[in-house]
Amino acid sequence: MKKILNDLAENPAYMIPVLIFFGVSLLHIFPVLGTDMRVMVYIAQGVSIAWASVFAFRRKLVLWPFIVIGLLFVIAGTSMYLLEERDLKKAAEAYASNDVLKSREILESINSREIQQSKEYLQLKDAVQQRSEQDMKILVKQARSEVKRNRIEEARSIVGRILGYDRDNEEAADLVETIKGKDLITSEKQLPPEMARKLKSLKRTVNAHIKRKKFDRARKIFDKFLSENGEVKRDSLIALSINDKIETSEKNALYAREKRQNRRRLKEALGLFKEGRYEKSEELAELILQYDPKNRAAKKLLVKARTNIRKEREESLLQYKAAGSFLLFVVLMILLVRFITRCPSCGKHGARKVVDEYETDRRESYRWGTTWDSITMYGSGGAQHGTVSRSVQIPTWIITMRTDYSCRYCSYEWYVETDVQVDQ
Ligand SMILES: [Zn+2]
Repeated sequence: MKKILNDLAENPAYMIPVLIFFGVSLLHIFPVLGTDMRVMVYIAQGVSIAWASVFAFRRKLVLWPFIVIGLLFVIAGTSMYLLEERDLKKAAEAYASNDVLKSREILESINSREIQQSKEYLQLKDAVQQRSEQDMKILVKQARSEVKRNRIEEARSIVGRILGYDRDNEEAADLVETIKGKDLITSEKQLPPEMARKLKSLKRTVNAHIKRKKFDRARKIFDKFLSENGEVKRDSLIALSINDKIETSEKNALYAREKRQNRRRLKEALGLFKEGRYEKSEELAELILQYDPKNRAAKKLLVKARTNIRKEREESLLQYKAAGSFLLFVVLMILLVRFITRCPSCGKHGARKVVDEYETDRRESYRWGTTWDSITMYGSGGAQHGTVSRSVQIPTWIITMRTDYSCRYCSYEWYVETDVQVDQ
């Protein structure tokens, strides 16, 4: 490790290919790449490692740890890919065994761009989408028939299930309103006859005022009724429904003019969506719904725009993470290099300057090597050729190299001696 940092400290240009190599290798574990990009990454890895090895060879620098790191990233990236590919198979199995929800969940957990672009993924996603739409339709049908048979609790639980799978299901939202209406009727039925009559007359008066757009007047009458009839609480279903009616009618009257602009707005919002400007499109769809909460086209657009915004955010988050890890690595490298080049006297980091490098001692030594001898054996089958290996002592030099350093800041001088072994 020290040798690596030393190498980097003395050869700042060596850092360039090393950093490129590291940055490119990092892309393997952040699945931001499509299939075509993966090839580019391999090429960039090859080029930067070749560049680095030219440096390393010429100046006898350490290179292998970087190669190991690069390989580890490739292995990690590949195994992540394989795991997600297995997930895709699991999703297909879940779909085959009619567990559409699980299949959808697994599909959504897959991050690899390569898999997302694959034919199997896209086909399965389409199939799951269609199937869950069918399932929703069946559930909506069931809920409707439960409502018809006045089995409100059953209907409520089915609608809850639908909204659990698909928060934006419009038919389920309509059913919620229907169920609310049924609840209202039930609670009205429970009122004593005297109160029921009073309430009926209140509603008639309030409606008459609403019709003439006298909303404040309607509100006053409603408030007066509440204060006179303490048994009807303000947060009771009955009171809320009347309050709601006044408020939505007022809003509708207020927005009537704005609502006429909605057709133009919708066209614009769809155009923005097609251009990929999802946030603007979302804003406009929200505006349309503000003036016309039941606008189906705007609701659909809003859902689509929000889905795409979420996807884009996830993607850019991934890119930020990749860039962030790279930056962190670069900063760490620089800090370590500066630390290793600190001055022993004044202690400042990044202070060391190479003044000279020369040989101070040379001793004879040897290392064990292997040599291959060709042999010929003679037997009843005739002559047979082969090779045998044997260990031999290879003469070497142990050279002591001395490097003189000086401090950039306080001019303190010091030296370091290292032994290197080379063949004679
Ligand atoms: Zn110094």
